[in-house]
Amino acid sequence: MVDEDTLSSVLSDFARTLITDFPIQGILDHLVERIVDVLAVTAAGVTLISPGMAPHYVAASNADALDFERLQTELGQGPCLAAYETGEAVSVPDMRRDNRFPDFAPAAIAAGMGAVFAFPLRHGAGRLGALDLYRDTPGALDPRDMAAAQTLADVAAAYLLNAQARQEALEISDRFRASALHDALTGLPNRVLLQQRLEHAAQRAHRSHSQAAVLFADLDRFKWVNDTYGHPFGDELLIAVARRLSAVVRPGDTLARVSGDEFVILCEDLAHVGDVMNLARRVDEAFLSPFDLAGTQVTMTVSVGIAYSGPGETVTDQLITHADLAMYQAKRLGGATHQVIDLRGASTAGDRNRLDRDLRSAMTGGQLDLAYQPIVRTADGALVGAEALLRWTHPTQGAIPALTTVSIAEQNGLIGGIGAWVLKRSCLDRGNWLAEHPGQPLDVSVNVSVRQLMTAGFCATVATILEATRMDPTALVLELTEGVFIEDGNRATSVLADLKAMGVRLALDDFGSGYCSLGYLRRFPVDTIKIDQGFVTDIGHDPSGVAIVGAVTNLAHVLGLSVTAEGIETQQQHDAVAAMGCEHAQGFLYSHAVPAADISSILRTGLDGSALRSGPPRPASGAGRVAVESDRGAA
Ligand code: C2E
Ligand code: MG
Ligand code: MG
Repeated sequence: MVDEDTLSSVLSDFARTLITDFPIQGILDHLVERIVDVLAVTAAGVTLISPGMAPHYVAASNADALDFERLQTELGQGPCLAAYETGEAVSVPDMRRDNRFPDFAPAAIAAGMGAVFAFPLRHGAGRLGALDLYRDTPGALDPRDMAAAQTLADVAAAYLLNAQARQEALEISDRFRASALHDALTGLPNRVLLQQRLEHAAQRAHRSHSQAAVLFADLDRFKWVNDTYGHPFGDELLIAVARRLSAVVRPGDTLARVSGDEFVILCEDLAHVGDVMNLARRVDEAFLSPFDLAGTQVTMTVSVGIAYSGPGETVTDQLITHADLAMYQAKRLGGATHQVIDLRGASTAGDRNRLDRDLRSAMTGGQLDLAYQPIVRTADGALVGAEALLRWTHPTQGAIPALTTVSIAEQNGLIGGIGAWVLKRSCLDRGNWLAEHPGQPLDVSVNVSVRQLMTAGFCATVATILEATRMDPTALVLELTEGVFIEDGNRATSVLADLKAMGVRLALDDFGSGYCSLGYLRRFPVDTIKIDQGFVTDIGHDPSGVAIVGAVTNLAHVLGLSVTAEGIETQQQHDAVAAMGCEHAQGFLYSHAVPAADISSILRTGLDGSALRSGPPRPASGAGRVAVESDRGAA
């Protein structure tokens, strides 16, 4: 029989050991060990019970007791479960004379058990489990021992609750930490974790002179998939994409989902730049077969931008921004393609960062201007229009390429403002030309970027500018690239329809430089195709160049569209596109882009005037001259 002193020494021992950071299993082990020391029993066991679940925690003072604990759980019967269920101590002083546990008793007797006493581990009205005391001989337990055992069980329950609460808190904080760093849908690292890995890569690049690369992948037409098949389908697709991409990254690379349909792969410690291109190829291959989701098959393509830093160069999150910029270039060309921004050479990266900042003040500082490239009629070289091209003269870096300016503006959100300025300036300039040369039919073409077209209120801005500048809408040609169709075809359709309703004309720019889907030509209300310079350059070198330009021109004509050939530099190219029936052309052969005032001069005197001194040597005769035209042309 336990005396007061022993019990209180066990309790204070319990208190000392358990008050600290004792794990649950440790508490149970301690409980069963101490109890066989102080009570007249052969063994003790304890089982924690969670309704509907297999017991997580079992402890026993010896192997037999452990078997008895498990046996009761397996049978779903026994003093332990009874104490747990009723909340009352259960006493079985003689196993052979008890008929409450018909399944458990025979097995227990066969294993040499004489008596068992079970005590609930109580907390409030509920129970956590039960403590079992086993004896190999029959006989009741002294009431004071019964009370002492229940006291120990209660104390253990209190510590267990404490430990459980601590453990749950730990699990929650682990889960929270994981969820703060991972995307809930795909389980991939999120932007925060990517940022941490990038910092890690930066330290590593600094230490080991390694290079890093970022691949920015954005699904083409994801929004369309979402709208067509519903968001749950879109979610499934993203999960499937995450799975395929996970399979192509190298161990040690970080694949993150940074937003909606955007994935980023960070490659640290690159041995060769070629490794990135291999990775890009594997990313492409990952999209070759269609995604089969619940019986629906969708074929997806992806636009990828790549940026990398040279050995030992500072790696910053600008690498992501630049990969994103490159990705936009890929999109601009119609998606399903790669673009690389090569940042090797820290000065280039630094320059771009500065440009990003400087563009904000460029507009107000009068550094932005427009140059106009004449568009001529191939038949007779007559001037039919002028394409406005953005020019940024940086105070220290001089002329910044238009594509760089536009991609930076698309990134930092200035494209809306800059685009509106370009449009208004173009309309005003055309107004001035016509004021000087009344009655001259002359179109003005303005490039519109993907982001700009998709901005809410774009059509309203166009309408306002047309009205404010008293511009004839039919003389305005907006030049779009195929990129607008892959992002959100439905929205593009409705914006383009609104523009058409205003009377504005539309041209598909750089046709053939990117994804080049002829399907777009039928679906979208464009008036003109501008054949990319890339095809024109092939004329004279590669017979397929002629064949492609010819085929596209024929197709355009079948669809009732006019064709402009871009980038004509030689008489041979001019002759070829003219022979194939391209109505219009532009290129250095006729004129470089010139200041607005020079267009006025051309209207006055034609190319033979003095306006185009900045241009290349001009052809001596024939159609390679800009003449003032007398009828309306297309873009
Ligand atoms: P784009 O609309 O296809 O414009 C034609 C580009 O080709 C211009 O380059 C022009 O200078 C160049 N080019 C014209 N003829 C020849 C030629 O015979 N040979 C060669 N090698 N090049 C020729 P630029 O001005 O650098 O503009 C590049 C692109 O930037 C434009 O391509 C257009 O997509 C974009 N862009 C220019 N201005 C704007 C703008 O105001 N807004 C938007 N969104 N994009 C613009
Ligand atoms: Mg253009
Ligand atoms: Mg073009």
